[in-house]
Amino acid sequence: MGKIYAIASGKGGTGKTTVTANLGAALALQEKKVLLIDGDAGLGNLDLLLGLEPSVHLDFSHVLQHICTAEEAILSVPYFPTLFFLAAAGKLADLPVFETTELLRQLRDQYDYILLDCPAGLGDFYRLAISQADALICVTIPDIAAVQNGRRTLAEAARYSSAEVYLIINRVQFPAMHRGEMLDIESICQIIPAMLLGIIPEDSGCIRAANQGEILVLSDQSPASQSFRRIARRLLGEKIGFPRQEAQIQVKRGFFSRLKDLFRNETGFHG
Ligand code: ADP
Ligand code: MG
Repeated sequence: MGKIYAIASGKGGTGKTTVTANLGAALALQEKKVLLIDGDAGLGNLDLLLGLEPSVHLDFSHVLQHICTAEEAILSVPYFPTLFFLAAAGKLADLPVFETTELLRQLRDQYDYILLDCPAGLGDFYRLAISQADALICVTIPDIAAVQNGRRTLAEAARYSSAEVYLIINRVQFPAMHRGEMLDIESICQIIPAMLLGIIPEDSGCIRAANQGEILVLSDQSPASQSFRRIARRLLGEKIGFPRQEAQIQVKRGFFSRLKDLFRNETGFHG
């Protein structure tokens, strides 16, 4: 039976879709059979990142409404024999809970990993995703608003499921972080109480690859590409350490105590 991961953040623009595409591809490069599901019915663009947009004629909603089978709606991703994609439910106003849950249960048996690219916010798809997921992967950036929303995402998940929680910190600019201009890694980890799965540097390769409908991890040896590959191997249970630059964790003392005050009164977590 495969594992389901919900990729979420609360806030838009943290890199959920980028992580879904590249982590899925990195898992596929490790010979795992992977299905990526776009959960963003309104603004989904995982198809664009995978270079599949012109091929999408059937989606999640057609499967749920029994207009076609899942096999008919699922597309294979070019260059990856074991990577597959199911497009967002474009025409459905509300997700039918029972049918969606059943479909995810069936698909789970056919794949090693299913990655659910959640929309921003903590709406219906997010709740359904975390109720079915084995793990939630919270994607944040070193920005106070994104980190606060990441914390809320976890608190909400704790209400609906006992899924494991992982954290990916994306778009890190190490020089700015060392100068204290960005939240540092340790502060973020204290605010979002989840196991740190990886740190992805700011990398223009992500934007270039997205614009060209290519998957970064396929061709590119860029820093972000290497981070995605390390994250996939950690998920597969390998003990992959953090490179020196990523491991250098600095605590800006005064700054962190201010943050602690900020989050002290939030519900859901303590400490
Ligand atoms: P979300 O799905 O959370 O809304 P996206 O994955 O669409 O976020 O990413 C938002 C924007 O940030 C996109 O333009 C994407 O190319 C860019 N981006 C994501 N991760 C990185 C990164 N590590 N370095 C540079 N740009 C990135
Ligand atoms: Mg997205």
